[in-house]
Amino acid sequence: MLLNFLRPNHLSQKMLRVVFSIYLGVTCLITGTQFLTEYLKTQHSISSELNQLQATVRDPIAASLWQYNQTQLDVLVDGLVKMPIIQGVDVFDQDGNSIVTNRSYAPTDRPLSVFSVKSELSWTLMGKKVLLGSLVLYSSSQVIFDRVLFGFLLIALTAIIKLSLLFWLFVWAFDRYLAQPLKTLMSQVEEVQLNHNASQRIHLPDIENNELKQLQEHMNKMLGAIEKDKQRLLEDEQEKRNWLEDAVTERTAELQVLNDKLKNLATRDSLTGTLNRGSFFETAEHMRKLAQRQQSSASFVLMDLDHFKRINDTYGHFIGDQVLIHFTKTTQSFLRKSDLLGRLGGEEFALFLSDTGVDDAFLLAERVRKAITDSTLQIDGKTVTYTVSFGVVCAEPTDQSISDLFKRADLKLYGAKEHGRDRVER
Ligand code: GH3
Ligand code: MG
Ligand code: MG
Repeated sequence: MLLNFLRPNHLSQKMLRVVFSIYLGVTCLITGTQFLTEYLKTQHSISSELNQLQATVRDPIAASLWQYNQTQLDVLVDGLVKMPIIQGVDVFDQDGNSIVTNRSYAPTDRPLSVFSVKSELSWTLMGKKVLLGSLVLYSSSQVIFDRVLFGFLLIALTAIIKLSLLFWLFVWAFDRYLAQPLKTLMSQVEEVQLNHNASQRIHLPDIENNELKQLQEHMNKMLGAIEKDKQRLLEDEQEKRNWLEDAVTERTAELQVLNDKLKNLATRDSLTGTLNRGSFFETAEHMRKLAQRQQSSASFVLMDLDHFKRINDTYGHFIGDQVLIHFTKTTQSFLRKSDLLGRLGGEEFALFLSDTGVDDAFLLAERVRKAITDSTLQIDGKTVTYTVSFGVVCAEPTDQSISDLFKRADLKLYGAKEHGRDRVER
């Protein structure tokens, strides 16, 4: 505690030091004044006593002088010097010459301060006063100190008791009303800081309505504001995250659509919507291998529109395109979900039929051929009819790839063309 007092670390300790130092200074001043007053009072009282003694011994000394009785004079002076309050006696004649000088101390041990009282020595002869000389009695600070020592000790003791009592009272008061609440405040603030918890509140127990309470209220208001800001930031962040998630979902959906479109563009024929050549052969090859492994039947049908060049030349390309679309739709209306239709190029199409023998494939081709032959198209006020030739083959266990099937079907198709078109050859 004393070390803290000398080298204070905390505000309360610093304040304690300042207040106590002021109090100590004032106490020292008051005690010093008390000492001085006591000293002067005692000196005055000793001077009065010297005056009284002087009044008592003046006549016997004057008598001794009158009678020139040196021995009696010496005895009287010796007796005076032995008195505790008298430190020295001087007797002078009327011209100021010393007759007797006596001191209770050695010349080297002269007291700090010496004071004296002086009176005239006279003899009355026939009613007339004859001046004989003077008597000087000395006393010193030594005598005063001897007398006031107890009083001084009492004053000093009272001051020390008062000081130490007040010191501990100050310590208790500062600790109770300043240091403890500040310590609690600091530890609670530190806790809030460590936990990053702005919803926590500062609470100082047993606190009076003073600046500390106001500080507590201000800090709690500040924490409330921080908490609100934090909440708002969190909400903003959540809002942004939601927006971002929505944007990502939307973008993903858009990308999926684009991807599907791209896939469609890559695998489908843009005019008829059927598989394009590459995609058809890829899928058909996969289906062929499956059928080969499962030892199930499969058929390949190659289809080519007859004299299509003529249709283009007669009606124009737009109508030629409509014919291609019509052929696709008509063919699809006869197919199962597992059947594969593809446009190999120009007016040439192909079918891959799983679990289908050559007879069934032939019958299907016949039905398609008949439907096409029987259909009459009305486009832009023009009546268009057309026919198709078919080459039908079935998959063989010896086939190495879909190309083997394609080559055989092409030969059959060539045969159909050779034999007059609008035919199915197998
Ligand atoms: P064949 O009976 O021997 O098959 O005779 P063809 O006229 O059908 O055969 P050819 O190979 O001589 O002509 C095919 C024509 O198909 C030529 C080409 O202009 C036309 N063609 C190819 N692709 C398209 C297309 O996408 N749209 C249109 N309108 N015509 C196409
Ligand atoms: Mg043709
Ligand atoms: Mg052709």
